[in-house]
Amino acid sequence: MFFRAFILQHEDLSQVIFYALIITSLWLAECLIGAIKPKAKLAHTFLNASFIFTALPLQLLLTIFIILIMNWANANHWGLIYYIPYHSNKWVYYISLFVLLDLGEYVYHVIMHKIDVLWKFHLVHHSDLKVDVSTTVREHPGETCIRTCFLMLWVFLLGPGIVVLMIRQVFQTFFNILAHTEFRLPHKLHMVVGAVFITPNLHHVHHHHELPYTDCNYGDVLSIWDRLFGTYQELSENETHFGIDTHPDPAVNARFVNILKIPFQKLERK
Ligand SMILES: [Zn+2]
Ligand SMILES: [Zn+2]
Repeated sequence: MFFRAFILQHEDLSQVIFYALIITSLWLAECLIGAIKPKAKLAHTFLNASFIFTALPLQLLLTIFIILIMNWANANHWGLIYYIPYHSNKWVYYISLFVLLDLGEYVYHVIMHKIDVLWKFHLVHHSDLKVDVSTTVREHPGETCIRTCFLMLWVFLLGPGIVVLMIRQVFQTFFNILAHTEFRLPHKLHMVVGAVFITPNLHHVHHHHELPYTDCNYGDVLSIWDRLFGTYQELSENETHFGIDTHPDPAVNARFVNILKIPFQKLERK
C-alpha cells in the first residue's frame, strides 16, 4: 500500500529509480560475465554517460513544448486519434496511440538514416565500437533536439493525452535499455519476443558496421514495422561487428569532443 502510494505521488522519481535499477543491474551483469574487460568498460561507460549532461537540459526544456502542444491538441480535440473508430473506448484509444506513436518512431529512425545531414547526427550513436547498456544514452545533443522536435510533430498530428505519452515513455526507455545490453536473448525466446518486440538480437544487427545491416531493424518498441516494410534482418552474434565503417578510428570514437564534431565534418558514405 505504502509502495503504491509512493509510486503514485512521485511518478517522475519512481521512473528514474526504475531505470537506474535496470541500467545498474545490467551494467553489473555485463561487468561480471560480459565480453568487455572491466577497465575498458569503465572508460567506455564514462564517455557514453557524458552525453547525459548534454541531453538532459535539452530534453527538459523541449518537453515543455511537447506539453504545450499536447494541451492545445487535447483542449481542441485535435489529432488523428479522433478519426479512429471507437476511439472513446479506452482500450482502442490507448492501443491505437501506442502503436501510432511507435510507427512515428520507426519513420523518424528511417529519416535519420536516409537524409545525409540528419545521418551525420545519428551516426554518433552508431559510432560506438562496443555496444553495451551505456550505448543507450550515446546521442549527439543535435539529435536530442531533432528527436524531440519529431515527437512534437507526432503529438501535434496524433493528439495523445499525457497518460498514454507517459506509458509509451516507460515502454520506450525500457526497450531501448534492453536493446543495447551486451546479452542477446536465447534463440527460442528471441523468436517469440522478437515476433512483436525489438530484442537485443535485432538491435545488435542495426549496430553492425556495414550496410545493408545498418539500414535494418529500425523499430523502437515494436518489430512489426520492420517486418511490414521489409527492413527486418537477422545476423548471428559471430558475424556482427559494431561501429560504422565510415568512422572506424577508435581514437576519434573514444573522445567526447571529437564525437561532438562529427556532424560538422564532411560525410563519406560507403
Ligand atoms: Zn540507427
Ligand atoms: Zn542503438
